Amino acid sequence: MPIYEFCCLECGEVFETLQRLGDSPPVCPLCQSGRVEKLISAPGAVIDRGASVRQRETSILRRAGEYLRDGKVAEARRFLKEAQEHVRTDSIKRLSDRLQQQPRGGYLVSKPAAVITKKKS
Ligand SMILES: [Zn+2]
Repeated sequence: MPIYEFCCLECGEVFETLQRLGDSPPVCPLCQSGRVEKLISAPGAVIDRGASVRQRETSILRRAGEYLRDGKVAEARRFLKEAQEHVRTDSIKRLSDRLQQQPRGGYLVSKPAAVITKKKS
């Protein structure tokens, strides 16, 4: 039975699951969302010009998922923004948009640091 890798479009979780042909798509183990995208195994695939759009998309989603798993939401957002300049697909855009709307890990607590530091001078 083949193991497939999936990326959750809601929270960015990347997970592996056994899938038989004809099985319905799995749900995300973290947020139970059914909006998951199958990742094509592309060992060592990086964002290079030789790779197909699908391969590049896969490695981008996977990388973003790794950031999110580590709680590095800001990095994931920056990475996705950068990635979109090279590869524009619906999946990447959706995940990127999702991160803009639902930042996790207290990312929302952003005070204009410039104002605070200016007081000192
Ligand atoms: Zn999820």
